[in-house]
Amino acid sequence: MKNKGTIGVTTQDIFPIIKKFLYSDHEIFLRELISNAVDATQKVKALAAKGDIQGELGDLTIRVSADPAKKTITVSDKGIGMTDDEVDKYINQIAFSSAGEFLEKYKDQANNIIGHFGLGFYSSFMVAKKVEIITKSWQEGAQAVKWTCKGTPEYTLEPTDKEDRGTDIVLHLYAEHESYAQESQIETLLHKYCSFLPVEIAFGKEKEWKDGKEVVLDKDKIINDVNPLWTRMPTDLKEEDYKAFYSKLYPMAEDPLFWIHLNVDYPFKLTGVLYFPKIKDKLEVTRNKIQLYCNQVFVTDNVEHIVPDFLTLLHGVIDSPDIPLNVSRSYLQSDSNVKKISNHITRKVADRLEEIFKTDRPSLEEKWDNLKLFIEYGMLTEEKFYDRALKFSLLKNTDGKYLSYDEYQTLIEPAQKDKDNKLVYLYATNTQEQYAYISAAKAKGYDVLLLDSPLCAHFVNLLESKMKDVRFVRVDSDTPERLIPKEDLSKPDMSEEEEKELQEAFREVLPKDVTFTVNFENMGPQQNPVMITQGEWMRRYREMSALGGGMNFMGSMPESYSLVVNFEHPIIQKIRESKDKNLINQVCDLALLANNLLKGEPLNTFIKRSVDLL
Ligand code: ADP
Repeated sequence: MKNKGTIGVTTQDIFPIIKKFLYSDHEIFLRELISNAVDATQKVKALAAKGDIQGELGDLTIRVSADPAKKTITVSDKGIGMTDDEVDKYINQIAFSSAGEFLEKYKDQANNIIGHFGLGFYSSFMVAKKVEIITKSWQEGAQAVKWTCKGTPEYTLEPTDKEDRGTDIVLHLYAEHESYAQESQIETLLHKYCSFLPVEIAFGKEKEWKDGKEVVLDKDKIINDVNPLWTRMPTDLKEEDYKAFYSKLYPMAEDPLFWIHLNVDYPFKLTGVLYFPKIKDKLEVTRNKIQLYCNQVFVTDNVEHIVPDFLTLLHGVIDSPDIPLNVSRSYLQSDSNVKKISNHITRKVADRLEEIFKTDRPSLEEKWDNLKLFIEYGMLTEEKFYDRALKFSLLKNTDGKYLSYDEYQTLIEPAQKDKDNKLVYLYATNTQEQYAYISAAKAKGYDVLLLDSPLCAHFVNLLESKMKDVRFVRVDSDTPERLIPKEDLSKPDMSEEEEKELQEAFREVLPKDVTFTVNFENMGPQQNPVMITQGEWMRRYREMSALGGGMNFMGSMPESYSLVVNFEHPIIQKIRESKDKNLINQVCDLALLANNLLKGEPLNTFIKRSVDLL
C-alpha cells in the first residue's frame, strides 16, 4: 500500500480553484457525497442480485451525521466500499483529473454551469479543510483503509480498522463554513437535494411531543421517499396520489388543473409528472418551478433551455439521466438529446390536452379560462404546438359558450363573410365596456367572441396570419354596418361644403387631447345618432407594442378615434337645420360617455346640460 503520494493532477494546485470557482453553489457538496453513497449502495444490491455477494446485505440505510462542536459532517454508507487500489484509482487519479478537466474547461463561465456533476467527491473541498475516507471493500478479506487529504495535492493512505463493509466520508469544515454542521442547515439541504433518492437516508432520530415535551425516539428519521410518484406505474396511481404529490412539492399551491405522467425508455430515458397550474390573468413568473432530477437526485429548478419557454409555466418534476448537466446553458439548446426530450414533452402536453378534449370536454370547458393563457402562449411561441393546439383549443363567445375552432367556423360562416369573401371573426375584449357594440353586432345576427387575455392582440395577429381568408375585428372598431361590409354602402346625401361645415361644428365640441376624425354615414334611424370607433389596426398595434415585441413607434402615437355621425338619424337631420350647438354637444357627450371617454369637468358640464334639457 502506498502510504503517501501526490494526487495525479495536471494543473499544479487545483484546490484554490475548487474553493473559489463554485462559490455560489457550495452546498452541492452534500448532494455529491450522498449521490456517491447511493451509487455504492445500488452497486452492492446489483452484486447481490448477480450472486457475487452471498448472505444478508444488512441494513443499507445511508446515515448523515454532524457534530457542530467538532465542525464535522459524516456520510456513511453500507455500499461496495473501496480497496486501497480503488481509492488510488478512483479518488487519487480519475476523479481528480476529471474535476481538473472540468474546471479548466469552464473556469471562464462559472455562471453558465449547471449541475456541476462530474466534480463529485472533490466538491467537498469547497467547504472542508480536511477530508477523510474510511472505507472497506465488499470483497472477501479486504483491508479497510483510511485516506486523508488536507486540501493540498498531498494525501495519506493507511490501513485502518473498520468492521462493516462500506464507506464513511468525514468532512472537517472550515471555520467560515461551520454552519453546515448545524442540524437545520443539513435538514434544508437534504430536503432540497435528497428528498426522492432511491436509498433510505437517515438523519437524526424521530421526535415526538409527549406531555408538552419533545422526546427523542429510538427510531431513525428517514428524510426521503425512495419511490416517488414519478417512478411508479401510472396504472397503480389514483387522482388523489397525483394531487397529494403536488401538494408535497408545492405545499402552498392550489390544486392543479390536469397532469401528465411522462415515462420514456427509448431513445432517451425520461420520467416525470407535469402539472398544469391555474394561470389566471398574468403570465407572472411562476413561483412553483419544474424540478429537474437526474436519477432522483435534485439538480435544479431552472429548466430554461431544457423545455420550450411556455412549458416552464408548468409545474412538477422531470427526471432524466440523458440531459447533459455539466455543460453551459447555451450549449444545452443545441444538444440533440435535449432537443428530443423537449419535443417529446411538447408532444405529450399536446396529446394530453387533445385526449381531454376528446374524452372529457366538460372538464376542459370548465377549466379553459384558467388554462387558455398557457395555451395561447404556447401557440404564439411554438410552431409545432400551434398546429396541434388548433385541434383541442376552445373559443369562448360573449354568451359564455365554448366552441372548437372548427365548430366556430361552421357557426359564423353563413352570416359573417364580407364582400371580399373573407370570414370575419368579431371579438370583444371586455363584455362590460363594449356592451353596446356587442349587442349592436348581435342584433345584426353576428356572433362575438370574448378574447380577454393579456396576449389578445398578439394572439389575434397570429390567428389572422395562420388561418386563410379570415379577419379579426373588434366590435368597437367600426359601425355595425361596416364591421362586416357586405356591399358598398350608400353615401350620405350632402354637399362637400355642408360636410366640411358640420365636421367643424362637431370637432369643436370634442376633446382636444385625442385625435378625432369626423365621418358621416347612413346607419339607419334605429342606430344611435353618433358613435365612436377605434380602427382595428391602430388599436391592435398599440396594444402589441405596449406588451413588447416590435412596433414600438406605435406605442408613442397619440390615441385616435373616429366619430361617426349617423346621417339617417332624426336628431342629425335636426342638427343640419338648426346647427344647435347644445344638441351637437349633447349627442357627442353621449357617445363619449358610452366609451368611458367623458370624465372630470366635461362630465360635470354634460350632467348640468342634461338636467337643463329635462
Ligand atoms: P463520480 O461519482 O462522478 O464518478 P466522484 O469524484 O464523486 O465522481 O467519485 C469518483 C469515484 O470514487 C466513484 O466513481 C466511485 O468509484 C468512488 N467512490 C466515491 N464515493 C464512494 C463511496 N461512497 N463508496 C464507494 N465508492 C465511492
